[in-house]
Amino acid sequence: MKPALIIVDMLEEFVRGRLKSPQAEAIVPAIRRLIDAAHRAGRPVIHVVDSHLPFDAEFRVWGKHAVKGSPEARIVEELAPSKEDLVFEKRYYSGFRGTGLDTALRDLGVDTVLVAGIHTHICVLHTVADAFYHRYNVYVVKDAVAAFSKKDHEYALNYMKQVYGAKIVSLEEAEKLLSG
Ligand code: ZN
Repeated sequence: MKPALIIVDMLEEFVRGRLKSPQAEAIVPAIRRLIDAAHRAGRPVIHVVDSHLPFDAEFRVWGKHAVKGSPEARIVEELAPSKEDLVFEKRYYSGFRGTGLDTALRDLGVDTVLVAGIHTHICVLHTVADAFYHRYNVYVVKDAVAAFSKKDHEYALNYMKQVYGAKIVSLEEAEKLLSG
């Protein structure tokens, strides 16, 4: 198994900005642990992050957020990428759409993705859906993803398991998977 860690949207906007939630803040330490485990094992760490243009479709639903180049579109400092980490900017919910993520994963020889970040029922779910269609084995780290409500979170975990065959794993299980 050749896993990569994919971290979705751990941005100022969603952790401490206008679209913040205590749930997003609460998973920061768990994601830090995953990053450290991936680094120790020499596995790729990849952030996929909102970087919106002023006319993007999502603004109709959420209002203006995480605009490209703004302070809100910065990854929170606790999870700031190190030199070897990769960052892909996106304008859609899915980390695969229009980003080149799939090509990069193939170049790296990755066959399995472990997904963490926010929000379980939005960008995590859409990223998992595309990972499924691109034929990756998908693990969702339940202690390292979050939504605005527990109901949305639980619903999305169950949906990804049933519809995309994602395996839902704990933080400890994910650390083991990363370290092989
Ligand atoms: Zn967005």
